[in-house]
Amino acid sequence: MRGLQMKAREIGPDAVWRKGEAEIPLLGSLIPVPVEVQQGKDREEGLFLVEARAHFEDCPRCDEPVDDGIIIVMETARMFPAHCCDTILWFMEDDKNAMETYG
Ligand SMILES: [Zn+2]
Repeated sequence: MRGLQMKAREIGPDAVWRKGEAEIPLLGSLIPVPVEVQQGKDREEGLFLVEARAHFEDCPRCDEPVDDGIIIVMETARMFPAHCCDTILWFMEDDKNAMETYG
């Protein structure tokens, strides 16, 4: 799995990445973590989901309401597939500022 091939809108509210015919559950998979948010590992396992609203009400990138968006929680990294702007935002568990790394 190559992270750069993932688009936010391909990741459903069930944390399943759908690309063409393929369906890849991100929970339980090793997800490539961008260098900017790595803490020692370049891949981390998707552990569980939380509602994006638990972290922010509006998308940190485009300010649209996150509605029923999800955040995928990994060992140290967090991934927010922002459907509003089709961008995957990454941040660390103790960092409130989501970082845009690729979309
Ligand atoms: Zn957005």
